Parts: sequence; C-alpha cells; structure tokens
Amino acid sequence: MNVNDTEVIFSILADEGYDRTEVMDEADVILANTCSVRDNAEQRIWGRIEQFHQQKKTRPEVVVGIVGCMAERLKDALLDSRKVDLVAGPDSYRSLPQLLRDIAPDRPQINVLLSHEETYGDIRPVRIDRNGVSAFISIMRGCNNVCSYCVVPYTRGAERSRDPRTILREACDVFASGYKEVTLLGQNVDSYLWKGEDGTTVDFADLLEQVALISPELRVRYSTSHPKDISDKLIETMGRHDTICKCIHLPVQSGSDAMLVKMRRRYTRAWYLDRVAKIRSVMPDCAITTDIIAGFCGETEQDHQDTLSIMREVGYDAAFMFQYSERPGTLAARNYPDDIAPEVKTRRLSEIIELQNALSLESNRRDVGKVFRILVEGPSKRNPAELCGRASNNKMCVFPDTAHKAGDYVDVEVLSCTQATLMCRLV
Ligand code: SAH
Ligand code: SF4
Repeated sequence: MNVNDTEVIFSILADEGYDRTEVMDEADVILANTCSVRDNAEQRIWGRIEQFHQQKKTRPEVVVGIVGCMAERLKDALLDSRKVDLVAGPDSYRSLPQLLRDIAPDRPQINVLLSHEETYGDIRPVRIDRNGVSAFISIMRGCNNVCSYCVVPYTRGAERSRDPRTILREACDVFASGYKEVTLLGQNVDSYLWKGEDGTTVDFADLLEQVALISPELRVRYSTSHPKDISDKLIETMGRHDTICKCIHLPVQSGSDAMLVKMRRRYTRAWYLDRVAKIRSVMPDCAITTDIIAGFCGETEQDHQDTLSIMREVGYDAAFMFQYSERPGTLAARNYPDDIAPEVKTRRLSEIIELQNALSLESNRRDVGKVFRILVEGPSKRNPAELCGRASNNKMCVFPDTAHKAGDYVDVEVLSCTQATLMCRLV
C-alpha cells in the first residue's frame, strides 16, 4: 500500500517538474514514506531521520519530509525533533507541491488532515516496480474496523471506496503499457462499495469480475480480505474466472476465540474455518495465506496452542508472523496491559514460524508433479540462466530458460521444491 502511495506522490510531484532520483546526494527533497503498524517500523525511520540530518549538515538547503502513517501519528514529535521540514499525512499528498513551496528556514510545513473523500482516484501513479509486469492499484483507503491492536484506522482515517470507473481505467492503462498483472489493494476489500448516481451499486465481487474481464492476458490479485466479511459471492466469482489468481490472504491473527474477542476481529475460530471450507469447496487448489500475531495481551499458553492448531488445520501456504507491538491510542493500549514477557513472545513467535516453515514445505511438496501457467518476472536472482515467475497460487517458480522474457506466460512442470521455491521445467 505504501509502495502505491509513493507512486501517487511521484505522480503529483512530477506534474510540478520534480524528477525522481535514488541517489540521496543528488536530491533536493528527501521524502520517507512511513509505516506505524509496529514499533520497529517507526524505530527504523527515526534512524533514517538521523541519516537525513547528516545530509543537512553538509547541504542545509536539502528538504527532509516525513509522509504517511508516522507523519499522521507523530506529527508534533517529528516537528519537535527540528530535523524535518515537512510532515504530511496519507490524505494530504495533493498539497505537497504547496507545502514544499512554503518551506523556509525555521518554517516547517505540516498537513495531517484526514479526509472522508480523498481516494486519489484521478491520479495516474508513476510506477516504481522494477519488472514492468505487476502493478498495484488502490481501490479504497482507510479502514472502518477497529481491531483493538491496530493503529491503521487512526493513521489512515475512515474507509472510502474509489470510483470503479477510475479503477478500470487505471487497470486498462497499465495493461496497455505492458503490465500483465494487477493487485487491487484495500485494508478490507470485502467492504468495498460504490454507489453510482443512478442508484446502482458495485461491490468488491462485481469490481473484481469487471477487472477480470479486461483481457485473458491480464491476471488479477487482491489484498486483503477480512474473514468476517469474505462472501460466498466473492469466492464464487473467483472460481468462475481463470484470470483471478487462486490465492486468498485471509489474516486469522489468532486461533483462540478468547483472543479474537479481545482483538475485536468479530469472527470465531469456527466461522473462520467455515470460510476456509467454502473456499476449498469452490477452489480446491486455492492457496490460503495469513497474518498471525503472537503474544497479544493476556494470551495464555492454551491460546497460543490454539493458534498453532488452527495453522495445522488450515495448512497455510504462507504467513506473515509478528510479535504483538502495543500502539499508543489503540483500544488494546487503553484497555489491556501488554503483559506477555518479551522472551515469551519471542518463543511463541519462533514456534509459529517453525510450524509455518514446515507447512510451507508440505504445501510446496504437494505441488511437485503439477503443471502451472506462470507469468515470467525476469531472470532468477541466483542464476542468470534461469527465469522466475509466479503461479496463480502466488508461489515462486524457477526454471532453466533464457528464451522467454518478463511478461510472457509459460507452462512449467514442478520437479522439486524448497520451502520457498518450486523448481520447474518448461513444458
Ligand atoms: N487490514 C489488514 C491488515 C493490515 S496490518 C487486515 O485486517 O488483515 C497488517 C498486519 O499487521 C495485520 O494483519 C496484523 O497481523 C499485523 N499487525 C497490526 N497491528 C499490529 C500490532 N499492533 N502488533 C503486531 N502486529 C500487528
Ligand atoms: Fe487494522 Fe483491523 Fe482495519 Fe486491518 S481490518 S487495518 S487489522 S483495523
């Protein structure tokens, strides 16, 4: 999501005549687009701010700006550090040119207003991916859920959906310029809803279908689904279209009902497993991936065991796994002590990671012998005589071949695997 926001910022600044450089010594303006979801993300940015400050010592005219969620959350602390000239929250990017013009020594500029309407719908992001094959498209912004651990609703504001016509136009544009895959982004795509002037509505399943029909050569992915909201209609729409990749990211967070209540996720373990069963009944080969938080407030050893057991029961293909990090101002920070000792959090997280490594390997082994259509992304990192690309289930495939190029579709047979990669041959 931040990558795509950066693409929006580049577009807004390009219209003002700014060029992009990745060489810090050349930059007149240095912007860091930031994440607040866990404390360690913010700590890394404080480290970067020190680094930018060194630049300012030799080049006092350089402008340093912090944009994104950390700007929204820590506005005053950032200004008080006297090391930044610009603080701009996620809904203020259209004002960046003006803010940059108004900066003067000892006159830092700030805009952290959140909006109920801003979707940057009309802006054509300047793509910064390196392969020219796969593009992100934001379909909504903000979030109306209040998961008790999560800072996102406070930093990114209320949920709003983007006009589907602008989404389709952007998808057609990127396809016309050579991209072969789009990923539709939202914090909770299942609650996407557009109400047209004529009273018609477009929900996420409708939107996904419209994007899926653009071309048989354009694949579509999306992230993230919320287990409480993922509908039969969406699952069945996915099943109907080959262009919709068969991979669902369905963050479970915990396998314990007590934790799920405290997290305010608004589903139970049984409900979650029912959604998984529905997905498997419509699309037996659909990959399911997840997010897990270890060591949330009051988590008992039994709660932790419940997380390990739901992981085994679902057999996740991949997961993002985190230790709980208390975020100031959230419901959890206000209501529940962050009472799991750091060494216990670390131990539980490593058990979760170890189990997921085994599940990922098992999942990959199940694919040995299968034939997949993959979208080539380019040469493999390890071996220039091999190409790599992803299957519909999002698994990375590598295979010896130099004849094809990024953006080609090829059929491969899986010969062997590691926990992270499928080793294949061209069919
Ligand atoms: N909208 C998405 C998640 C966005 S944040 C969803 O609802 O699934 C991405 C992931 O970061 C979350 O799924 C969660 O696992 C993790 N996360 C969020 N807040 C966290 C916190 N305070 N500590 C640790 N992990 C957190
Ligand atoms: Fe955060 Fe929950 Fe919204 Fe996801 S759905 S962004 S975890 S509040």
